[in-house]
Amino acid sequence: MSRKPIIAGNWKMNKTVKEAHEFVEAVKDKVPAPEIVDSVIAAPFLALDRLVADAKGSDLKIAAENVHFENSGAYTGEVSPVMLEDLGVQYVVIGHSERRAMFAETDETVNKKVHASFAHHLVPIVCVGETLDEREGGRWQAVVKNQVTKAFAGVPADQATAVVVAYEPIWAIGTGKTASSEQANEVCHFIRETITALYDLATAEQVRIQYGGSVKPANIGELLAQSDIDGALVGGASLQPESFLALVDAAK
Ligand code: PGA
Repeated sequence: MSRKPIIAGNWKMNKTVKEAHEFVEAVKDKVPAPEIVDSVIAAPFLALDRLVADAKGSDLKIAAENVHFENSGAYTGEVSPVMLEDLGVQYVVIGHSERRAMFAETDETVNKKVHASFAHHLVPIVCVGETLDEREGGRWQAVVKNQVTKAFAGVPADQATAVVVAYEPIWAIGTGKTASSEQANEVCHFIRETITALYDLATAEQVRIQYGGSVKPANIGELLAQSDIDGALVGGASLQPESFLALVDAAK
């Protein structure tokens, strides 16, 4: 089963609108053809309108870094899936560990956001991953299985195949510590087994699973060479155009 690689930059709380615009102008005509690799930039909300316009007609896709699960209402400071769809945003990162740890994101809100994304034609990139404590305590399987199972709750098989799962061990994010490619693949394979148990093998084989956590041009090749790693979600190394282009090129 060959799955198309998906490389997504996750800028987090970085770049002004002007800086974001300059980055997209620098890379948009250099990313690989969309039949070969999906190249995505997840940017802060403020830059999305500009970036969608900038990327129009190119093969670069734009993602939000979060979304609320309601369409509108009294949620001060939040952005709804209706608003993202209206802008032409195509992907949304859901349940990043920073949002789980610092902004009260739970498995339940992640699931609601997955449903809300599909209702508004946004492809969810769902982040899962264990802490160092959980890994060292031998609990990573239970943690990851629970996160995946709850994220997919109530999602029909035809939508499940479109979900992108990002496995990001929390101990490897922004720390310079990458999971070895074998360790990363072991978990990505386990995630695919979990999805197989929830649906069936044919469904699970279509789901793309990214690894994230200190991915850079120097290590992406061996990660992507693994059987169950179909792409990468990249923070730090996605902030420079040259480095982002090296990452998407490595997936060709
Ligand atoms: P990093 O971040 O590549 O800077 O480790 C990855 C992420 O948090 O998505």
